[in-house]
Amino acid sequence: ALTVEANEQNKRRRQILNEFLDLKGNIRVFCRVKPLSPVDKDSKNLRAPVASDTRNVIIKLTEGKRKTYNFDKVFQPDSSQDDVFLEIEPVIKSVIDGYNACIFAYGQTGTGKTFTMEGLPESPGVVPRAIKGLFKQVEQSNHTFVIKFSMLEIYMGNLRDLLVSQATKPISPIPPSLLIHTDAKGEIDIENLVTLKVSDFDQVFKLYKLGCRNRATASTNSNSASSRSHCMIRVSITCTGAPERRRETNKIWLVDLGGSERVLKTKATGRRFDEGKAINLSLSALGDVINSLQRKNAHIPYRNSKLTQVLKDSLGKDSKTLMLVHVSRKEDDLCETICSLNFATRAKNIHLGQDQTKE
Ligand code: ADP
Repeated sequence: ALTVEANEQNKRRRQILNEFLDLKGNIRVFCRVKPLSPVDKDSKNLRAPVASDTRNVIIKLTEGKRKTYNFDKVFQPDSSQDDVFLEIEPVIKSVIDGYNACIFAYGQTGTGKTFTMEGLPESPGVVPRAIKGLFKQVEQSNHTFVIKFSMLEIYMGNLRDLLVSQATKPISPIPPSLLIHTDAKGEIDIENLVTLKVSDFDQVFKLYKLGCRNRATASTNSNSASSRSHCMIRVSITCTGAPERRRETNKIWLVDLGGSERVLKTKATGRRFDEGKAINLSLSALGDVINSLQRKNAHIPYRNSKLTQVLKDSLGKDSKTLMLVHVSRKEDDLCETICSLNFATRAKNIHLGQDQTKE
């Protein structure tokens, strides 16, 4: 039975890879619906508003009125981390094949972005699996690769290096010491960002855990939850001695975005309000960039936020972009769910061409 299952999985893997290659430069948008927790099941949230199949999310707006949102893939509440990663693997392969890539998790706080990206020790998420996948692909390749790892967060519009301990530093104001440049080849370079050469998965995993700890420490000091910043991991891969490759260095960004809930609705005050506002602004800048790409505008407003400046060379041209939008089944969350689904819908059907990334 195991062999049959493995064969089926390999067949599905090949199918997914072919589907993915057919899409060329498109942004793919997946939606993951979070299961109701036991508490939610017992509460008045019983009338769960989201129903879905493998491509559609259906919202019951009122009795008899429904709206259907269509995505490249919808993960059901009972989908496993394995199911999710199986669909994401082609993006990892594309980095080895010479593309830049960006995978980001979007959604309201509490909808499972960190669960998808980081996962739990017993059910690892996209980040550890992607890194493992990259090393596996590199081992199987005939070329020699150098792999480098960086990790940062964007908090209140500033970049903070997560591989540098923040514990002893004052949290506010954060010096914007990491400068973003565009090099002669149009690649984004972040000056002073710690970038470490890594040789195996365990080494990267230790750095990743250190980054997560630094993020948590900084959050406690500034009395903010980690959902009030964007957490960004960059893995770059350099292949030397292969002139046929599109580029010598490619990179993948793995991004756990800050919670998308609208700050005015949360009744937050003080620092919480400012943090929420900063997240809202940068997510709206991300939406504007995506929308401008969709409209094939000559001007793409990458400069409007640090988030879009950093991701500039991974959101356009021939980069592979995957958005994982997360939604809740709770009736109380319905407004935010609709906002997230609308945002994700704007990102769909974008055909990114060579001429669309002028600034
Ligand atoms: P976010 O990062 O969007 O704020 P989290 O990833 O922290 O949300 O998820 C909130 C809680 O729900 C966590 O305890 C997490 O383990 C749990 N959770 C999220 N998604 C799932 C899922 N698909 N299956 C099981 N538990 C989940």
